[in-house]
Amino acid sequence: MSGSLYRAAVAQLEEAAKIAGVERDLLEVLKRPVREIIVHLPVRMDDGRVEVFTGYRVQHNNARGPFKGGIRYHPRVNLDEIRALAMWMTWKTALMNLPFGGAKGGIACDPKKMSASELERLTRRYAWAIFSSIGPYEDVPAPDVGTDERVMAWMADTYSKIAGRWEPGVVTSKPPALWGAEGRKEATGFGVAVAAREAARVLGLEPGDTTVAVQGYGNVGYWTAYFLAKMGFKIVAVSDSRGGIYEAGGLDPLRVREHKLKTGSVIDFPGAKRITNEELLELGATILVPAAIEGVINSGNAERIKARIVVEGANGPTTPEADRILYERGIVVVPDILANAGGVVASHFEWIQALTREKWPRERVVEKLEEKMVEAFRAVYKDSEEQGIDMRRGALSIALSRVAEAARLRGLWP
Ligand code: NAD
Repeated sequence: MSGSLYRAAVAQLEEAAKIAGVERDLLEVLKRPVREIIVHLPVRMDDGRVEVFTGYRVQHNNARGPFKGGIRYHPRVNLDEIRALAMWMTWKTALMNLPFGGAKGGIACDPKKMSASELERLTRRYAWAIFSSIGPYEDVPAPDVGTDERVMAWMADTYSKIAGRWEPGVVTSKPPALWGAEGRKEATGFGVAVAAREAARVLGLEPGDTTVAVQGYGNVGYWTAYFLAKMGFKIVAVSDSRGGIYEAGGLDPLRVREHKLKTGSVIDFPGAKRITNEELLELGATILVPAAIEGVINSGNAERIKARIVVEGANGPTTPEADRILYERGIVVVPDILANAGGVVASHFEWIQALTREKWPRERVVEKLEEKMVEAFRAVYKDSEEQGIDMRRGALSIALSRVAEAARLRGLWP
């Protein structure tokens, strides 16, 4: 995405503040994060050299509860991006009515080029560096792009070693053996699929007659395709960073995943036609799920998007200019803070389990997650229809009203 992601997030906030009636003073507070941490992390690499990485943790707001948000390992990680993502987490947890605020973290590194032991040393150094600012009642990290449950296990272990007690509630999305919630791994994709199903329902579309294209075949993209196919939708196209595939008769997400695990990409899946990522976005599929990176739907291609529904699996895949174009063209956009909130909802369930040392069965997680997603979708849809605004503004204004109310009640101190 060209330009500043954070500026785009602030522009969205300013618009939502008008709808939600948030006063200037509070808006000025919410435009900025509570705290921004930058750490420089020397790590001994396997060849004996020391490399210094830069890590961030931005804590946007905690009026409603401990900061919450993922940690991203990617070469392009920077403060601007992490700030925007931290703010979006505040709206996401508020929209889903979870007792959390919003934060995001990251390290500028290329995890694909690092060995497991280098990643472990980097992660432990980062956890040590931000130790005093995180904790089960302070800030609860989780994975994001480039991090996984293994990274969360190292974070939990490092935090617990320094604290001198086992604290499984300090991070979420841990391996199930370390009090990770059953069903957390697939929770975001499941939530995206439920949001897509609800959007199709309000437009009167039958799953069997509805085609879907998914950009990105990682954690979110794969599970979205898997659950939508299970619900009866026809997945006609998927892609990853190397390109995409198209099959008018429908793809089997499981087989495509096996192919990707074997070959490293979805491309060259037997029998499917090779397409580019640009072609996938502009394909005639009824539902389009961008589930890879930011800014892929922008002023350059928004006029050519033919989908009736865009369900944002990724964070920030649609630029503000594209948003306006899609809305004017009557395309329903289910915004990221609603569509991909399944992960943080399941993270909340995991946090409860860690604090109470209770273990919930997978069915309980899935059932409660579906309930939460449907409830939030219907509230946002109803609100945006009544106010004559798009679903992003509807979702943001609901979330912002909740954060503003909590902030006003708590007041400014000292
Ligand atoms: P991931 O790393 O597992 O998968 C990302 C996928 O996108 C990969 O298949 C990759 O090949 C593909 N990709 C990368 N660059 C691309 C490009 N230029 N064009 C097309 N495909 C490209 O990541 P993930 O966890 O699935 O996250 C994807 C998005 O969803 C991110 O925006 C993330 O912030 C968001 N998200 C993730 C979660 C979660 O629980 N994992 C929760 C909420 C939001």
